[in-house]
Amino acid sequence: LRAKYAPILRENGDLEGIVVLLQDVTEYEKLENMRKEFVANVSHELRTPLTTIKSYTESLLDGVLEDKGLATDWLNVINSETDRMTRLVQELLQLSKLDYKKSKWNKAEIDINEIVKNSILKLEVSAKNKKQQLEYIGAEEAIFVLVDKDRMEQVVLNILSNAIKYTGESGKIKIKVHQENNHAEVIIQDNGIGIPSQHLPRIFERFYRVDKARSREMGGTGLGLSIAKQIIEAHDGEIEIFSGEESRGTRVTISIPLVKRELAYD
Ligand code: ADP
Repeated sequence: LRAKYAPILRENGDLEGIVVLLQDVTEYEKLENMRKEFVANVSHELRTPLTTIKSYTESLLDGVLEDKGLATDWLNVINSETDRMTRLVQELLQLSKLDYKKSKWNKAEIDINEIVKNSILKLEVSAKNKKQQLEYIGAEEAIFVLVDKDRMEQVVLNILSNAIKYTGESGKIKIKVHQENNHAEVIIQDNGIGIPSQHLPRIFERFYRVDKARSREMGGTGLGLSIAKQIIEAHDGEIEIFSGEESRGTRVTISIPLVKRELAYD
């Protein structure tokens, strides 16, 4: 609580009374701290790849360039770090648009099975490279939801690529789509490294990661889950993550309200 005082004076200068203004600043301070933490995180996340790029470039200029094999390896590092930075900046711009409600939503009725199938097609190769098995169990019938197709596909891609990233070679990832009461539900379950339960309450926060170094090594930005949550909430849906013990895998469930259809009798 913050208090401000102001005296009320009579014309002759005597004190008539005091106005006390009590302000609840906890919420304000909380937001202010979050903002500061966010700026610190962004700066740090941008500086890390820049430091790598700078030191590798300097060494190349210092003579490593002569060693063709090593030079190629290092140029590949520089290349992938640049890609990660580009992704980071794109994702930050996207979050800022979502924050300021500047995103234009192209919502249309679509069968959620289609969105999930498209995303699987795009990531099949990455799973195959890790010899992982992707098992898709779609719903028998179409399940219509009112969504922005590209954004919703992005959510599924973020979750599914996490499942692939955080599951080892020969792992198994199961993707299920079904209808649950008045919701469409997508469940993505892996048998990968899992998330220790103490991390779960903060896992949807921007830049929150169980293992920062590991995430970066895999090309992660730490923004995927927070973007997914914001998109799902803009569709009045819910996203939850379940995991507990390490090495016991992770399950993410996404639920989106079904399109309400007026029953027509004629
Ligand atoms: P990142 O770019 O680091 O993957 P995300 O926001 O997508 O960022 O995820 C945040 C963190 O949540 C990850 O760094 C990882 O620690 C954890 N995580 C997300 N999905 C999984 C999963 N399927 N298995 C294990 N850990 C996961």
